[in-house]
Amino acid sequence: MNVFDTLQQSKKLPDVYRQMTRVELEERIRQHKERLGKKLLMLGHHYQRDEVFQFADQTGDSLQLAQIAAKEKEAQFIVFCGVHFMAETADLLTSEEQTVLLPDLRAGCSMADMADIHQTERAWERLQLMFGDTILPLTYVNSTAAIKAFCGRNGGATVTSSNAKKMLEWAFTQKERLLFLPDQHLGRNTAYELGIPLEAMAVWNPETERLETDQPLENIRVILWKGHCSVHEKFTVKHIEHLRKNEPDMSIIVHPECTHDVVIHADDAGSTHYIIKTIESADSGTKWAVGTEMNLVNRLANEHPDKEIVSLNPTMCPCLTMNRIDIEHLCWSLDQLAEGVFQHPIKVEDKDRGPALLALQRMLDRA
Ligand code: SF4
Repeated sequence: MNVFDTLQQSKKLPDVYRQMTRVELEERIRQHKERLGKKLLMLGHHYQRDEVFQFADQTGDSLQLAQIAAKEKEAQFIVFCGVHFMAETADLLTSEEQTVLLPDLRAGCSMADMADIHQTERAWERLQLMFGDTILPLTYVNSTAAIKAFCGRNGGATVTSSNAKKMLEWAFTQKERLLFLPDQHLGRNTAYELGIPLEAMAVWNPETERLETDQPLENIRVILWKGHCSVHEKFTVKHIEHLRKNEPDMSIIVHPECTHDVVIHADDAGSTHYIIKTIESADSGTKWAVGTEMNLVNRLANEHPDKEIVSLNPTMCPCLTMNRIDIEHLCWSLDQLAEGVFQHPIKVEDKDRGPALLALQRMLDRA
């Protein structure tokens, strides 16, 4: 769904919710949860605000939430506290009888919006002319269902930051080259980890519709879509240099959505799940600068008072779109559900369901 559709379909939060106290909102949500029991499943992504995260029945990163949704058979209503593409994934992986709701339709993802299906189809045509039938498309799960369906139709699959390496290895058993959508940084960092030199990676610019490379085409093995996460791009090598100088005993761990320079200068890099596990298992008294979303960094700092945990970027703010799901919208969504109204149900278009599911299944079979 594009920004225009979202704004058209998104309903404005009634003022009454802004006038309620936090205690009233929490109490109302608890009552709804109690009344609905197992009919309701609330899924919460690690980047969510604490005020919402506290109510999640299950929490996780993109891969974990997709796996939970795929196994979930009991709940009739799945309230997704994450962003639009995650709710679409949950809709794809659950049955027709289950309804997925997103408390605020404006909770999108700027990275997912950077790969539009029409741009992608035009790019594919051009790339086929340049490289012939040698390319397998892979998409980060942070993409629209239409992009997932495009990958499914063309023999490709989805990946998450937890399994990107495994999925790229698989992709190279299928075709000589791959097109990686929509996050150039995850694609570049993962391919580099597999030993592919930077010169063998070209960037497809969807604005100019040109392939950015100074290499002969036969040398190209990875085509990176020119998209990025506006949150993770805010970590820079300067932040790392500053810490190395002022806090030499602090370990730096970053998410692979950060730029390649940041990843190679950090001490460690990995998915959200990997970052959480690494810090959890670290010795008491250790110091960590973390290059990922701010709500998660703050939560890690609160949960591990025996360790010093800060953001790699001291002026970092949370993911703005993820933060659109606040306690007021959550309460409103559940109030509506109690009245039999499905507010902001997420339904993937029929034409995309089969192929998008195929792309997800190819990943889940290997994840
Ligand atoms: S953190 Fe980045 S990739 Fe994740 S939802 Fe926000 S904009 Fe999208």
